[in-house]
Amino acid sequence: MSQSIQNIRGFGDVLPEEAPGWQFVESVFRRELTRYGYDEIRLPIVEKTELFARSIGEVTDIVEKEMYTFTDRNGDSLTLRPEGTAGCVRAAIQRGLLHNARPRLWYAGPMFRHERPQKGRYRQFHQVGAEAFGLEGPDLDAEMILLSGRILTGLGLSNLRLELNNLGTSAARASYRDALVTHLQSHASRLDADAQRRLESNPLRVLDSKNPAMRQVIEAAPDLLDYLDEASRAHFEALRGMLDAAGQPYTINSRLVRGLDYYGGTVFEWVSDELGAQGTVLAGGRYDTLVEMIGGKPTPAIGFAAGIERLVALVEAAASAPMAAAPHAYMVVEDPEDIQQAIALAERLRNGLPALRLQVHMGGGSLKSQLRRADRSGAAFAIIRGSDEIAAGEASIKDLRGDAAQRRVRIDALEDTLSPLCAQ
Ligand code: ATP
Ligand code: MG
Repeated sequence: MSQSIQNIRGFGDVLPEEAPGWQFVESVFRRELTRYGYDEIRLPIVEKTELFARSIGEVTDIVEKEMYTFTDRNGDSLTLRPEGTAGCVRAAIQRGLLHNARPRLWYAGPMFRHERPQKGRYRQFHQVGAEAFGLEGPDLDAEMILLSGRILTGLGLSNLRLELNNLGTSAARASYRDALVTHLQSHASRLDADAQRRLESNPLRVLDSKNPAMRQVIEAAPDLLDYLDEASRAHFEALRGMLDAAGQPYTINSRLVRGLDYYGGTVFEWVSDELGAQGTVLAGGRYDTLVEMIGGKPTPAIGFAAGIERLVALVEAAASAPMAAAPHAYMVVEDPEDIQQAIALAERLRNGLPALRLQVHMGGGSLKSQLRRADRSGAAFAIIRGSDEIAAGEASIKDLRGDAAQRRVRIDALEDTLSPLCAQ
């Protein structure tokens, strides 16, 4: 036998036992996004490399060292999307969706970043993202944050922290950047390699360091909020007022910066303490200049993206997801000669009972071994078509989980018997 082929490091499989958790998380996103007027858009996984270089920023970690970029057979430089916003904005501009009646979009799917794989950090991971275009007021920010909170509550996750910041205009960030660089340079000996590199290329990113050894230097750094321009300050205050009025708690974290260059103004993250350094499960903010950078008319926008792997891990720990759906019933057939009519009977039952999850035993075997299979399938009941039953035009119903007595039912009354059993 030749050696079996393994997956690529950082590219996971979602196993059948994990799939219900994923479906639960995805369904809550879909339900709540729809309730707030967001429409789904499905986007390609591969885009021109230039799209990401232009939008995410040349000197971000993602573009510098994390993208899966390749030259295709035509010689074009293409990239597996590392995030969804750039492609969504590209499509919205190209298809004229920005200024129509419903400029609120959501998407879901895999993203690719060549990071160091660890718990909560993978090379292929999944996001659900939402983007809203055309409005610049803090009301939209407030609603989007409340929507994200409602999704997390819907997932049964109540002990997440909402962190909030405002990055100001690019002019405000530029003057803050100067003050920050001066501070970091005066502590040059205490900066780790990452921080030294970022000091040159993208100093605000130093604030996002996850290295505990960097904490002191970061805590002593000047405060971004002291450098805010008047308009951003007013926007931030109005947003906070709306969140207060809606009863949504938050903490202000002036060290909160985002890893992508297109963010400015409001930024926010939902953070869990249960995931170690990989604690952020949903993050977003304003990107009022991005549409123009990608070639559209200037259009304010705000969006968020949630990390599905991390949310599924939390949902599993909280046991808030439904379990895998075992069959209601498992049909066993004593004589292999009778399989033909068993299949026909099963089809009849599925026609009559749309909620019924029914599995038919195939591959023969003794009645005893078939009943063992029925038990292992997780089914609540076995429908037994033994030779006796078939001769009498009946089936036996055997309770596999409780202690109800086994009973015989006429074949033409099976729908009536099974109907209450497949109510859950
Ligand atoms: P982090 O600071 O954890 O690296 P990020 O700022 O790079 O996250 P975003 O680009 O804002 O993350 O993506 C939004 C969310 O997607 C993150 O909050 C996280 O939940 C998830 N995410 C990002 N990168 C990964 C990854 N490599 N593996 C799994 N989930 C990820
Ligand atoms: Mg990252």
